[in-house]
Amino acid sequence: MRKKIVAANWKMNLTKKEAISIYDKLEEVELDDNQEIIVFSPYVFLDALKQRQHHVKVGAQNFHPAARGAYTGKVSISHLVDLEIECVLVGHSERRMLFNESSEVIKLKLDVAIQHKMEIIYCCGEPLIKRETGKHLYFVKNQLETDLFHLSAEQMKLIIIAYEPVWAIGTGVTATTAQAEEMHKFIRETIAGKYGNEVAENTSILYGGSCNAENAAELFACPNIDGGLIGGASLNSEDFTKIILAQ
Ligand code: PEP
Repeated sequence: MRKKIVAANWKMNLTKKEAISIYDKLEEVELDDNQEIIVFSPYVFLDALKQRQHHVKVGAQNFHPAARGAYTGKVSISHLVDLEIECVLVGHSERRMLFNESSEVIKLKLDVAIQHKMEIIYCCGEPLIKRETGKHLYFVKNQLETDLFHLSAEQMKLIIIAYEPVWAIGTGVTATTAQAEEMHKFIRETIAGKYGNEVAENTSILYGGSCNAENAAELFACPNIDGGLIGGASLNSEDFTKIILAQ
């Protein structure tokens, strides 16, 4: 049975005190055996959160693909391993757009993360123009083929996919359940076409993009939506807890 996951992407927000307070409250949420919570925290709080030793996983929002060296200001995967971080985000649209992260870099990061046995949330999703011109399915298929499909079926076991339509991220505009389910089903079929049904059925596909305490239950009830990647609404423990409980 594939995992149900709700993940928080805190981006460049919160103080250390706020981060620990939200994280500690999440520990109290009761989960089923196949449910998981992940918190993608700013680097500076990772160690403090790990010290709490909760069952809530701590993930890093980014890392540099080089093992070490003269990369002022960067953090390597070995730094994350050293802190016992088990999960990373790769391919988020903000990194693609604001930091010009190309498919080459994304592929490199996926390979490095896999070498280190990290669980990976890989993000894909179309910009508004592709949705408006009816090219959204083709666009996302192309992202999967370009970024992800060099991996083996065994390596795919470490991949969780987050479908995040760019026009829905941080905008307050959420994909309708029909739009989200159509894309999630299509992503699963595309994975099945490449890796077979077993891999596709075991891959968790999360929805991200203005998911909140009000709309989460309807989205999560869709057969191909296995949880969410939550930005804004994860900065408040009450709202985030409601989203987790909506599963
Ligand atoms: C995100 O950035 O991954 C995201 C889903 O943000 P928001 O929930 O704020 O749209």
